[in-house]
Amino acid sequence: MIDLETRLAELDAQGLRRRRRVLESAQGTRVTVGGKAYLSFASNDYLGLAAHPAIAAAACAAATQFGVGSAASHLLTGHHALHQQLETELAAFVGRPAALLFATGYMANLGVVTALVGRNDAVFADRLNHASLVDAARLSRAEHVRYRHLDLTHLEALLHASRAKTKLIACDTVFSMDGDLAPVPELLALAERYDAWLYLDDAHGFGLLGEAGRGVLHSHPSLLAPHPALIYLATLGKAAGVSGAFVAGSETLVEWLVNKARTYIYTTATPPMLAAAVSASLKLIAGEPQRRQQLQRLMAQLKAGVARLPWPLLPSDSPIQPLLVGDNHEALRLAEGLLQRGILLPAIRPPTVPEGTARLRISLSAAHTEADLAQLLAALLELA
Ligand SMILES: *Cc1c(COP(=O)(O)O)cnc(C)c1O
Repeated sequence: MIDLETRLAELDAQGLRRRRRVLESAQGTRVTVGGKAYLSFASNDYLGLAAHPAIAAAACAAATQFGVGSAASHLLTGHHALHQQLETELAAFVGRPAALLFATGYMANLGVVTALVGRNDAVFADRLNHASLVDAARLSRAEHVRYRHLDLTHLEALLHASRAKTKLIACDTVFSMDGDLAPVPELLALAERYDAWLYLDDAHGFGLLGEAGRGVLHSHPSLLAPHPALIYLATLGKAAGVSGAFVAGSETLVEWLVNKARTYIYTTATPPMLAAAVSASLKLIAGEPQRRQQLQRLMAQLKAGVARLPWPLLPSDSPIQPLLVGDNHEALRLAEGLLQRGILLPAIRPPTVPEGTARLRISLSAAHTEADLAQLLAALLELA
């Protein structure tokens, strides 16, 4: 038997032991942890919707009418009219023929990739893809071919050399630890040239990118045409402020996934109240462009403000704004100093990011004010 105590002690010794914080308030820019109030730059609640009263009210109303538990998988009796209606709304929202809800983005990635590729096939993946896409490729038993971050020349050489029967290119649209964007039209052109699927994980783009926050496909006109080989995934627990994920594509794709995606078939349907909550969220995402405008203002303020600091921001036009510190201990010292000043902003260290690139991952929210950001910049200047 492996000795877990010893292995945990090893993690401790390497400074890699992870511990959870207990949140005692609603999620937001002001949170309570351990009885103390903090200004937080540490969630994915980019639009400030996680605790929005209209979304909570929609969830409560649906729970009152239909209860909480779905009590069955989608293929038995768990597929509720609220799920069905939300799938129709989501497909229309992102401009694809059909959509399918999953319980989480992690499960969607596992389910989609394993339903489309297997032995004798290949998954081509950006090196900085999210862990769920890495796990999906491994679980599929397809060859897992990783290309250098955003390097399309490298990707093309690998596609060219591949003998795989079915090829699938999988890519984050906005990279979660760097905030940079994938060149989606160029990826699509490569996929079409090499007869590959293109699977786009827009977890950090949905709600933010494109007209009315409809996601990355709406940020490039060429992507709006029908592309049968393009598969779109977005998660609903980040900017949308709820929980879950959906895949959008052709009717045939969705029909195939209903039949073959094991993480769709062998799990209990999410509570219908969550579908009602997402419907309410979609109205706020599209109807309140001022949230995205506020994020643009905050990004400009941050970029101007860090000019006085010794650390650069990584190039990013998303609400993920990593401040590159480099040294692990220095990053920890800064995170600790911020905590003492009432600011929650975690240090991200290897192995989550490459050696020598420890960083503070500043996560902006439309709910932050200019004064909040000024407070963060002042604290960083004091610590510099
Ligand atoms: C968060 C995230 C996921 C996982 O989504 P969940 O709904 O949280 O499981 C998948 N892909 C990317 C790129 C993510 O950032």
